[in-house]
Amino acid sequence: AVDSAKLVEIIKAISEKITENKEYLTQLDSAIGDADHGINMSKGFRAVVEKISGMEGKDCGTILKTVGMTLISTVGGASGPLYGTAFMKAGQAVTGKSHLDFNDLITLMEAALEGIKYRGKAEKGEKTIVDALEPAVEALKRHREEGVEVALREAVEEAKKGMEYTKDIIAKKGRASYLGERSLGHQDPGATSCYIMLETMAAQLL
Ligand code: ADP
Ligand code: MG
Ligand code: MG
Repeated sequence: AVDSAKLVEIIKAISEKITENKEYLTQLDSAIGDADHGINMSKGFRAVVEKISGMEGKDCGTILKTVGMTLISTVGGASGPLYGTAFMKAGQAVTGKSHLDFNDLITLMEAALEGIKYRGKAEKGEKTIVDALEPAVEALKRHREEGVEVALREAVEEAKKGMEYTKDIIAKKGRASYLGERSLGHQDPGATSCYIMLETMAAQLL
């Protein structure tokens, strides 16, 4: 099981990976957006790490809600409120818990996905974060009986496929949707940051 200290560690690892990929994410956004996704995400997660350092004694729900509120308040772009809502909903789903087991992980991931879909009104196939996150959450649920390790590996694999598939589809939400067919051939920045976060989380748990 994951305790609060481990949860803080996972979030710090996500922040590091996002910062490592800052240029890459911004480069993807320069093709179909306004070239700031890496900047937005690394700025948000830098603030997150500052906020949650020292929160190891708090419950997991409070930590995740703090991540969400910090992303909403520090990231100006679309991704801030979207990921912010995801973390807030994830936190609400595990309110008061000092430890998270595999079932809690599934519960909070489902809540995160619902939060993003509700906030952004996006469905799978519209070239957004949802295209990486939804297949991952579905895989976690589908492989529930096989245990956390199998399920996490499958989830990361599905998120990767979903991210890559965003190259082949037309953007229907966000700035990239202004490009219509010209968004084809380009990988979605948000689906990519989502894959990076999921991959990092899984690596911390495996
Ligand atoms: P902005 O577009 O405001 O500059 P970012 O560049 O930080 O914000 O984030 C862009 C990413 O946000 C997109 O690549 C896409 O994945 C995601 N996104 C945009 N709108 C939505 C939405 N309605 N639902 C889900 N994800 C979205
Ligand atoms: Mg942008
Ligand atoms: Mg922007």
